[in-house]
Amino acid sequence: MAHDIICGMYVDENATPFKAEQEGVKYYFCSKNCLEDFLQPQQELSKLMLVSIFSISLGITTAVFESI
Ligand SMILES: [Zn+2]
Repeated sequence: MAHDIICGMYVDENATPFKAEQEGVKYYFCSKNCLEDFLQPQQELSKLMLVSIFSISLGITTAVFESI
């Protein structure tokens, strides 16, 4: 049995059609909702990461520019 990390239910990994794999680790879910909940925050997070990396590099560029 596998553990649904979204809702905490135990899932039969051979029976469930709801699964995902990230960085070589397989995750199993009891329902489509749990699978989507697992996938969506990751996308939001990477968007957030991109935005913060962008603003950090913008800040550095501004700082370099101002010191010249
Ligand atoms: Zn679930």
